[in-house]
Amino acid sequence: MLDDTFLPALIFGLLGLMIGSFLNVVIYRLPIMFALHWGLEFETQPSHLQNTTSSTPSPFNLAVPASACPQCGNTLKWWHNIPLLSYVLLKGQCFFCKTPVSLRYPLVELSTSLLYLACFFMYGWSLTAVAWAGFCTIVVVAAGIDWDTQILPDILTLPLVWAGLVLSNLKIIEVPIENSVWGAVLGYMVLWTVFWLFKLITGKEGMGYGDFKFLAAFGAWMGPLAIIPILLLSCTAGALIGITLRIKGNLEQNQAIAFGPYLAVAALIMCLGSNTIYTFLHFQ
Ligand SMILES: [Zn+2]
Repeated sequence: MLDDTFLPALIFGLLGLMIGSFLNVVIYRLPIMFALHWGLEFETQPSHLQNTTSSTPSPFNLAVPASACPQCGNTLKWWHNIPLLSYVLLKGQCFFCKTPVSLRYPLVELSTSLLYLACFFMYGWSLTAVAWAGFCTIVVVAAGIDWDTQILPDILTLPLVWAGLVLSNLKIIEVPIENSVWGAVLGYMVLWTVFWLFKLITGKEGMGYGDFKFLAAFGAWMGPLAIIPILLLSCTAGALIGITLRIKGNLEQNQAIAFGPYLAVAALIMCLGSNTIYTFLHFQ
């Protein structure tokens, strides 16, 4: 097992760490770029998303300016940006001002790496593994942005739907094209129906259109049969965490929580979790 799979597994794992590190930048910067582009102002969101128009340097995109500490503004050195390792070396603090660095950074890096490894153990050294690693990448970014802003951007969800349909048609992913099409339709329609029923009965909007598109994408990649388990898992997890936050007083009456991250975790468990454990054991 070690001879054949060690090197490719190492490459997938390290690539996951490096891309995970970049995903942190995307999760942080993409909402700011949207805010600047459309003149949006986020109000009740993480502090880096407030007053974006006045406090953001220009130009500002995914590549420039160089990463800096949001607290003291010092530009990070190259060795502050090594995935996982820098967090450990710097003991989870900014090198300059000692402000704690969010645990989210190493967590996103580690999860991306583990997801890439899972793709590799499921599909081996193949185009299918690369396609699913791409799927995981978009899902992690979308979930991170939804967590911060309660927005699931079309720029992420819609290409994920099209990619699922195209890759299915090219037979790069295993779901047949009929299932992919009906999965996308069903994924969208289920949440669309729930949204309108909830709105007719209560007069409130329980979720956003981004959630419909996100679930449509999962349907396109996994087929219609995956929709129900994904919904059951995500609703259960969302309800448990929502109730816990409410009890602990971290969530006010009528304050909404983003549904995207729960959909994302449920979908990743569905597509990779069970199969990976089986395949990994099989490899041994
Ligand atoms: Zn600092």
